[in-house]
Amino acid sequence: MEQSNSFDKIVNLAKQRGFIYPSSEIYGGLSAAYDYGPLGVELKNNIKQAWWKMFVTSRADMVGLDSAIIMNPKIWEASGHVENFSDPLVDCKSCHKRFREDHLLENKGIQPEYDKTKPRDRKGLKCPDCGGELTPARQFNLMLKTFLGPLEDSASVAYLRPETAGGIFVNFKNVLDSMRLRLPFGIAQIGKAFRNEITTENFIFRTREFEQFEIEYFVKPEDWEQHFSEWQKVMKQWCLFLGLAQDDLVEHEIGPKDRAFYSKRTIDFEYKFPFGQKELFGLAYRTDYDLTQHQKFSGQDLSYTDPITKEKFTPHVIEPSLGVDRTVLAVLCAAYTEIEGGRSTTTESNKEKEVVLRLPYALAPIKIAVLPLSKKEHLSELSRSILMELKKKWVVMYDETASIGKRYRRQDEIGTPYCVTIDFESLEDHKVTVRDRDTMQQDRVAIDDLESYFNTKFN
Ligand SMILES: [Zn+2]
Repeated sequence: MEQSNSFDKIVNLAKQRGFIYPSSEIYGGLSAAYDYGPLGVELKNNIKQAWWKMFVTSRADMVGLDSAIIMNPKIWEASGHVENFSDPLVDCKSCHKRFREDHLLENKGIQPEYDKTKPRDRKGLKCPDCGGELTPARQFNLMLKTFLGPLEDSASVAYLRPETAGGIFVNFKNVLDSMRLRLPFGIAQIGKAFRNEITTENFIFRTREFEQFEIEYFVKPEDWEQHFSEWQKVMKQWCLFLGLAQDDLVEHEIGPKDRAFYSKRTIDFEYKFPFGQKELFGLAYRTDYDLTQHQKFSGQDLSYTDPITKEKFTPHVIEPSLGVDRTVLAVLCAAYTEIEGGRSTTTESNKEKEVVLRLPYALAPIKIAVLPLSKKEHLSELSRSILMELKKKWVVMYDETASIGKRYRRQDEIGTPYCVTIDFESLEDHKVTVRDRDTMQQDRVAIDDLESYFNTKFN
């Protein structure tokens, strides 16, 4: 099976089964904009809740934050985004398509250099679509600009944040003072960010509106190496929790020439997506660059005083930064499994190919499906009462149409771990059949014991 082929199937499944739709579809869509459907929003929320629990509420050294998307534009001057957050844009002189020069070079196997002060050696680069000549590159700022208030002038310019980290740095002092924290400690945030990308690609991998998980972990300067390697370990655990295979993860150490000038160490964690090995998240030691810049631009004291030694200094920071949408995509790619010839033993379906989404239980959008064997009224009644009972604790779906084999396969396709089937015997013995997505093993369970049965399964 070709890799791009399998990716198309994942994209199709995502749309057909209510995970991710192209945005604004009835109006012809909008390039690189997507909407999360009923199952997609459950999956994404499950991932976000798991992240928040693992990195904020279950730790003693972390707190959360939810800062504004539109903030004082000076923040982006201090962070360097106004001046430097740009990509090299080139146009084709013949077909007028736009490209990122660095991507075109990478596609030809040439590692682009990051020195923006000199023109690049283009090595005879031509338009990949029509072979036409390309314009010289010009730097294109990626921040999405808007205007606050009724006047569209330079005094009312504001930006949709290009990353959530800025909100964390500017609240450093507020959090420190109000929460009485001691180093080392971290501030975490989940939220939307916006980048006016020149090119977008690969479904939800690169979009202009996206969501981020970001942590700024503040440390004493002399301790950074120890904390960096701890975060490296924790990030790997997170990937395994998501169901990503260790073999599909690659740690890419960024060399000194390609790092931001203030960073002393950066690792990109790359994932082998069906469309290629691409960055899933980054881990960077950013020294005291951010707090120092905000100190300079705001004129406020953002230092920390050690309560024991009384030593006063600007904390250094380790930054794990992840894309939420990229994580959703990696989870879908990792879970997607095709079984040639199918797993079913019934004659009607034994020659077909079956799709099973092997999502970790904690992430599955629907935990249990309730399937009455027939639509007959007395079975429906019992099934509905089981549905409402289970819904008190879990996300449960009800399905009474089509054959039971087809209904099992529908649930396998969306990753539902368990199906509960209510048959005519259930009316007599008050038991139901519970079927396991991965083993296809079937247990006969008393209706009164279902809650404790699933408590055990989901813990
Ligand atoms: Zn062209």
